[in-house]
Amino acid sequence: MKILVTASEAVPFSKTGGLADVCGALPTELARLGHETSLVLPAHRNSWSCGLPIEPMGIDFIVPIGSKTVTGHLLKSTLPGADVPVYLIQQDHYFDRDELYQSDGSDYIDNCERFVFFSRAVLEAIRLLDLQVDLVHANDWQTALVPAYLKLEYRGIPRYEQIASLYTVHNLAYQGNFWHWDMLLTGLDWKYFNWRQMEFHGNLNLMKTGLVFADAINTVSPTYAQEIQTPEYGCALEGILQHRHNTLSGILNGMDIVHWNPADDPHLASTYNVDTVLENKPICKAALQKVMGLPERADVPLVGFVGRLCEQKGVDLVTKVMQAWAEETDLQWAILGTGDQKFHNQLSTLAEKYPDRVGVKLAFSAALSHQIEAGSDMFMMPSRYEPCGLNQMYSLAYGTVPVVRATGGLADTITNADEQTFTAGTANGFSFREYSEAAFSEALRRACDMYCDKPRWNQLIDTGMRQDWSWAASAKQYVKLYEATVARKNQAIHA
Ligand code: ADP
Repeated sequence: MKILVTASEAVPFSKTGGLADVCGALPTELARLGHETSLVLPAHRNSWSCGLPIEPMGIDFIVPIGSKTVTGHLLKSTLPGADVPVYLIQQDHYFDRDELYQSDGSDYIDNCERFVFFSRAVLEAIRLLDLQVDLVHANDWQTALVPAYLKLEYRGIPRYEQIASLYTVHNLAYQGNFWHWDMLLTGLDWKYFNWRQMEFHGNLNLMKTGLVFADAINTVSPTYAQEIQTPEYGCALEGILQHRHNTLSGILNGMDIVHWNPADDPHLASTYNVDTVLENKPICKAALQKVMGLPERADVPLVGFVGRLCEQKGVDLVTKVMQAWAEETDLQWAILGTGDQKFHNQLSTLAEKYPDRVGVKLAFSAALSHQIEAGSDMFMMPSRYEPCGLNQMYSLAYGTVPVVRATGGLADTITNADEQTFTAGTANGFSFREYSEAAFSEALRRACDMYCDKPRWNQLIDTGMRQDWSWAASAKQYVKLYEATVARKNQAIHA
């Protein structure tokens, strides 16, 4: 099949979150499976420091933006590994900026215009590059207009007529919601500005637009695909998601097994694999205790956390439970993250008050994130919602037992340890359902109890380390979804 993946960011060209990991890894896996794959991205300022050559192609084009036209240029690079061609859309006024979407914490005021331009440019690139495409795979609100333009503006044009579209939601909370006059920028008829299509409480909503016009939609875990059809998780879009449930599915993201491999991780005090974990992981634990300023003790359980310090990640539960436990329980905590100021303050206070039990680093550090995954005994993710989540997969690979809230991708990857799952050999962590301090505490308590039962604890470690969460399986599921979407599209055309 011929697949064109498009997104606003992809590793190694640009990254603010998990979207970039997916869009950097998936095209390579698709190409390895024998599919002709290309990737189209904006040429952000930081793309130039990706370490790969980026060449101008000498192809300029113009697209309409409201009542004006804007010129763009095509650049070319290649994803290493399977030689996937990457086309970058250069438009310096829109993309030659310090950050991708915001400055000093506020969104750029022309974000709608920037991604209207980019979405139109993606479709123009198909013609300019003479690409034969079976399916365009668009991701998140920034490229949500691509399926809409395909259906509304490019309908009937031979090269485009056959192209099916898939739209993937990586996080439903970020919707690309803009004031209604931005509708003029899209060039689409006002008749589409209605509550069934592009309008959302008086605003233009790009996420909704993608959900409405794509031939198929999916999200990054099966459980999140179910959850977003409910008012609790649907971010007020559950109606449209329920309406489209026949074409909505969930595919777990894979993890990067090259950079996250304890047997070959340059950040660790000692590398290890499933056969050497029991001897060598304690070396990583002692090194982590040292880095975090905690007493170097082998006997005390060490609980890690890495992530954005925000409500989504359940950091309010983390700080409450730490406060309650630090007073009386012999347990150590290693926290790495940045985010909301209130959590910075609460965590700093805890670290000052309980220096022997709480280690906190308010920073972004790849090295330390690897050291926490390797050196901790448990890893906590009490997320309010979690579309997929990667850290729990890293934890499993590193023999660190996850303690998670059973939501989204966490529910799909972590099997709670109980008599039944132990007997079945599937137990790999601990989970709880209710979003409450009591439920989280209870799950941690169960984990701590089992930590003292070494044969069982070691079985949990062994099960997690032997599981395969790599992209290989997920990419095959994407291929199936692409094939089904293309087949349905062809049927509709020839009906
Ligand atoms: P999300 O995309 O919602 O932030 P994920 O678990 O899917 O959450 O991915 C987050 C990624 O960012 C993980 O690889 C995690 O290790 C990394 N990360 C988050 N915060 C930090 C930090 N402060 N330092 C290093 N890595 C971090």
